[in-house]
Amino acid sequence: MNGRQGDPAVLLEMPQRRHAMLFDAGDLAALSMRAALNVTHVFLSHGHLDHLFGFDRLLRVNIGREQHITIHGPPGTIAHIGHRLRGYEWDLVDRIVPVLRFTAYELHGDTLRATTFILRDGFEPKALPDTRAPGGLLLDAPGLTVRAAALIHHGPVLAFRAEASAMAVIDADAVAVRGWSTGPWVAALKPAALAGADAAETPGGLLPLATLGDLVRVLPGASLAYVTDVADTPANRAGIIALAQGVDTLFIEAPFLAAEAERAQARGHLTARAAGEIACAAGVARVEPFHFSARHEQAVVLAEVEEGFGRQLFGPRSIA
Ligand SMILES: [Zn+2]
Ligand SMILES: [Zn+2]
Repeated sequence: MNGRQGDPAVLLEMPQRRHAMLFDAGDLAALSMRAALNVTHVFLSHGHLDHLFGFDRLLRVNIGREQHITIHGPPGTIAHIGHRLRGYEWDLVDRIVPVLRFTAYELHGDTLRATTFILRDGFEPKALPDTRAPGGLLLDAPGLTVRAAALIHHGPVLAFRAEASAMAVIDADAVAVRGWSTGPWVAALKPAALAGADAAETPGGLLPLATLGDLVRVLPGASLAYVTDVADTPANRAGIIALAQGVDTLFIEAPFLAAEAERAQARGHLTARAAGEIACAAGVARVEPFHFSARHEQAVVLAEVEEGFGRQLFGPRSIA
């Protein structure tokens, strides 16, 4: 959301799947009201200020609305979210009827610890029973998964992989225009379209799918990984490469240059070259490096990511 230099926040909108999610909430000033109201999930890498201070915008826009927002993060997340929510005076909230609720989850191994906070209770924390997150699986909705890898920065940090499978969407207006009503044939049309079948049964008889393009549309599957604030260690590299294997888009931090490797190591961050090497080893299709330092010329950082990756990624440009 904030370019390559701004405080980290990636917004993933999937209107057909009724999901919008954020990966980190560093700076949400650029988030439109409409987009902010659709966010139901926040995946938080860790609790550093530059990744979380935008959270209040999400809180502000949802006051007075019926909404449940979940925040998944590493150990410490429940306290961070609790402190933010309890940092205001909530003495008039018993007049607000819609239930606004935040639930914070911390990943501890394969276990999720959870605490929920409801506006009407002044966001008084209520612990929930632990649940399982086998292999770091945080979200498992129809056609959509998000999983996490636990990595090390200074303290614990999570990296995420989101994956949406291909989906068939029916246009109800196009059905009505033909004078048809929806029925079991619609449910059968979706898998037929996904499978690339030649024809499908409709109220108008068996018709070639090629003639039903206005009725049913196939949205391709897509995947992304989000990796930031991680030390360059063999264990982290292995964890990131396994998590991000073959994704369409890898968002990966590149705050230091290879010439500053020692400082990068001391601060628990990747260099641009390391980001490129990891992206290459993970076999990703597209790389979006971010969390750049203002000290660096963007073109120089991008060139070093490409160097690590082993081929050109970002198109022609000149380096001053
Ligand atoms: Zn950071
Ligand atoms: Zn950090």
